[in-house]
Amino acid sequence: MLYYVYMSAQPLLFDLEPEVRVPRRIGQALVTRRRVRQILTKPTGALKDLDFTINPYVGCSFACSYCYAAFFMPDEQKAHDWGYWVEVKENALELLRREDRLAGCKVLLGSVTDPYQPVERDTGLTKSIVEHLSRLEPQPSVRILTRSPLVSRDIDIFRSLHELQVGMSVTTDDDATRIRYEPSCASIGQRLSAVKRLTEEGIRVTLNLAPLLPVTNVNAFAQMIRDSGASGFWASYFHPGTRKFAAGTRPGALQQAKMDDWCFEKFIETAHALKGLLPDLARSTVDADSLTS
Ligand code: SF4
Repeated sequence: MLYYVYMSAQPLLFDLEPEVRVPRRIGQALVTRRRVRQILTKPTGALKDLDFTINPYVGCSFACSYCYAAFFMPDEQKAHDWGYWVEVKENALELLRREDRLAGCKVLLGSVTDPYQPVERDTGLTKSIVEHLSRLEPQPSVRILTRSPLVSRDIDIFRSLHELQVGMSVTTDDDATRIRYEPSCASIGQRLSAVKRLTEEGIRVTLNLAPLLPVTNVNAFAQMIRDSGASGFWASYFHPGTRKFAAGTRPGALQQAKMDDWCFEKFIETAHALKGLLPDLARSTVDADSLTS
């Protein structure tokens, strides 16, 4: 796929948030800034029990081949080029500071992007947002979804949150498998080490085996989950649908799954085996319709 070339790579015509430093490119992804009209979204569907979602970025350079978030892009070219562009919501903090609806709410960071994707290392935007949330009175209850070990960078701020749940996505026990589906993501070991660092600080982490990919050794995987200190795990399969604005799985991942002979029946078998090995950690029945990020 060709690199995505986007108009806003041109010089910017508006004032920049001084605290947001943005690189031009992260790996294969072009990075641009974007001003948005709103930063809080009222969630629906599986997330409807939350009050708001916050996504500091649009797009995601992790470029997972199965990513459902591309299906929520109104722009077909951007959906097609998912993983090759990231937009930084440069006025995210400015909008949050004007908000008076957040105190005491349930807030999720990262419903359609990874808030700790590589550009976060440069911008610190997610970190600033979490810091802002920590200063509200009463504090919101914060959930963070990621598959990035960078999340452990912010342990100091997390300590000041009264209610925090981190969901770390770990999709397989085998990095050779991971590379076939999510080559730009951190290794399984790096993610589990980050989980360990968080849980050792008393931070509650759930492992999202989402989507669960082929597992090489179920017993060893169960031990890895146990050793991470996570307080629970759940698993989901791909979303084979392709409806616009609904969670789906992109064709590349479905083709790879076919080549790997990874089908729903094998997913069920593996997920139930994990549940049998870790009955105290299995948090929900196997759910093929849950969100993946
Ligand atoms: S699944 Fe999550 S981490 Fe992967 S590309 Fe999509 S938003 Fe990014």
